[in-house]
Amino acid sequence: MNILIFGPNGSGKGTQGTLVQKKYQVPHIESGAIFRKSIAEGTALGMKAKSFIDRGDLVPDDITIPMILDRLRESDCVKGWLLDGFPRNPAQAQSLHEALRKAGMNVDCVIEIVLDREIAKLRITGRRLCVNDNNHPNHVAFDAIKPVEKNGKLVCRVCGGDLKTRADDQDETAINKRHDIYYDAKAGTMAAVNYFKGVAGIRILSVDGAPSIEEVSKSILGQLG
Ligand code: AMP
Repeated sequence: MNILIFGPNGSGKGTQGTLVQKKYQVPHIESGAIFRKSIAEGTALGMKAKSFIDRGDLVPDDITIPMILDRLRESDCVKGWLLDGFPRNPAQAQSLHEALRKAGMNVDCVIEIVLDREIAKLRITGRRLCVNDNNHPNHVAFDAIKPVEKNGKLVCRVCGGDLKTRADDQDETAINKRHDIYYDAKAGTMAAVNYFKGVAGIRILSVDGAPSIEEVSKSILGQLG
């Protein structure tokens, strides 16, 4: 099962992606997480990507596209994958489609989490990242995934690990830039969504991202069947 998941930053895409990943037992490949790990490890890729990420810009396609296509060729991807954060523009969509076509594969399903831009923005600033596992959901504004308090500080509700914020989650200019890119239906991520909506044979699930995390999960998992 090859799945693409789309949603603006702040739509709960990462949280929902983790649930979908568990259902299908395929690797959850997050382009942003790959970059963040590379930055933390001080690799050449991380050093190249950091300034773009800090500004809220896309990392250039000549870095991002081969990175993701190489990742999809790794052995854990033979039974499928869930791709999150890629493609983000028409060139990435075309490159992915072309690479899959050459390998005799296709995208089976596109999950699109639809959310108003203002709501998405409000949600971003409250999220916290667990230092142990990026897929442990924590958000100060949502009761269901509120971090817990330990020794006077907030820690991960799943594992008790320390929490951090992403620099680009606290910078309003960077948030606006990322949303400009996401909602751009001509050259941005919505153009990539529409690209795959136009490819025959792909199942498209469009889900309202405004309700609670549980309701959105129910809607996605219910439609996946
Ligand atoms: P995310 O965690 O998906 O919000 O990604 C964080 C940042 O990583 C983005 O704001 C971009 O700077 C960079 N990034 C992630 N995915 C891509 C992509 N597909 N193309 C270019 N840059 C990306």
